[in-house]
Amino acid sequence: MENKTMKVRFAPSPTGPFHIGGARSALFNWLLAKHEQGTFLVRIEDTDLERSTKESEENIKAALRWLGITWDEGIDVGGPHAPYRQSERLDIYQKYTQRLLEEGKAYYCYCTEDELEEARTRQMAEGKTPIYSGRCRHLTDEQRRAFEAEGRKPTVRLRCPVHETLVFDDMVRGKMSFESDGIGDFIIVKSDGMPVYNYGVVIDDAEMEITHVIRAEEHLSNTPRQLVIYRALGFAEPQFGHISLILGKDYKKMSKRHGATSVEQYKNLGYLPEAIINFLALLGWAPEDEEELFDVDQLIERFSMNRVSKNPAVFDIDKLNWINFHYMKQLTPDKLLEVTLPHLQAAGFVTEPTPQERERLLRMVDGLRDHIYFGAQVVEHARTFFERPTELDEECTDILHEHTAATVLSAFAVQLQAAEELTEDAVKAMIKSIQKEYKIKGKSLYAPLRVALTGAMHGPDLTMIVSVLGKEESLARLHTWH
Ligand code: GLU
Repeated sequence: MENKTMKVRFAPSPTGPFHIGGARSALFNWLLAKHEQGTFLVRIEDTDLERSTKESEENIKAALRWLGITWDEGIDVGGPHAPYRQSERLDIYQKYTQRLLEEGKAYYCYCTEDELEEARTRQMAEGKTPIYSGRCRHLTDEQRRAFEAEGRKPTVRLRCPVHETLVFDDMVRGKMSFESDGIGDFIIVKSDGMPVYNYGVVIDDAEMEITHVIRAEEHLSNTPRQLVIYRALGFAEPQFGHISLILGKDYKKMSKRHGATSVEQYKNLGYLPEAIINFLALLGWAPEDEEELFDVDQLIERFSMNRVSKNPAVFDIDKLNWINFHYMKQLTPDKLLEVTLPHLQAAGFVTEPTPQERERLLRMVDGLRDHIYFGAQVVEHARTFFERPTELDEECTDILHEHTAATVLSAFAVQLQAAEELTEDAVKAMIKSIQKEYKIKGKSLYAPLRVALTGAMHGPDLTMIVSVLGKEESLARLHTWH
């Protein structure tokens, strides 16, 4: 039996932000290629000239690279089937169109948009499925010339088989069948000479020797048309797999209302690529056991289309946060600072840190890591290190009015003055010695210190705060209230 190596592709249209659903399609193809030691190709489908932008293409490529999804063949990296941008492949489509026209499998259609619209409205009014009437199916050369003389620019339509059931075995959804009569002769080349998506995609997938086409469920209804094209061109059909929609927690299609939807937004919020990969893999694929945390190598080892579900995948932000938290915990302080620094800078807390500031920031982020699910969250937790408390709420004011509070604050100030080094252990020892000397403990000891230093009742570890704030800043804060 022939054992052809698997070749899959990701073929985005560069028409906007790189959606999380696109990243999931890319990931599934990539994981599968890696798992099967096959080839992963990336092609740009930019035949919609009005909506395609170079910026979006760059954005998609940058996001894929950020995620660590690399490709073996395709745009930028090249390969035997270059070019990999559809707008540069027009002569290739043209060659096939010529062949289809010569073989009588396709024909020029001169109907105008208005005429087609009128026919559609009429069919719908009669309760029929709006399909092309076949008006231009049998034009004589003379009729064609007459239309051209009117200045009409033709589209090219493919003759669709009649009364045929188009069947394919979907890797995710099983046996699928569609009636060709619901399709009718459809346009493959627009009047401006550009191939439609269904046409370009088939020629490219066939020429590029793609063995498995794995893409989003929204393309399921395109597949019968693509099968008709494969057959007309005599190409071998790949295997198709349509992965389910991604829904929000309310079971509605994922949209902006559900929060961030593009990879770039998550990147900018300070999510880690390894967490996004792990999370996306679970959007539709289920591992064999209960385990949910997988690094890339584990995913490659386990991934299989057999365990990709046809049920919609639900995008659960809490789960993403939980996964991201897991990976954040594993970062070295240096890496954690790298992820959080842009957010501290954007909040105006720091600019370019000096080596000394950097050392303090490292201790700060390390001390905060149990509170931060993703990079941007550092801001709310770090605020206390950069902004002195100015107002106190009633609860905090009451704490400072407790009769032992003044004693604690002044004793601590004295200790601070004398301190040489403010390591966390040193601060801990200072607080302990106050406890011993004045017999003040628990909340009466810690709460006044926390309130005076941070203006709040709760927050990160107090010894870490003092150690990061340093002597002068801590003293200045104590003196504000005392
Ligand atoms: N360019 C199409 C899209 O971005 C690709 C669909 C496919 O994978 O066939 O939706």
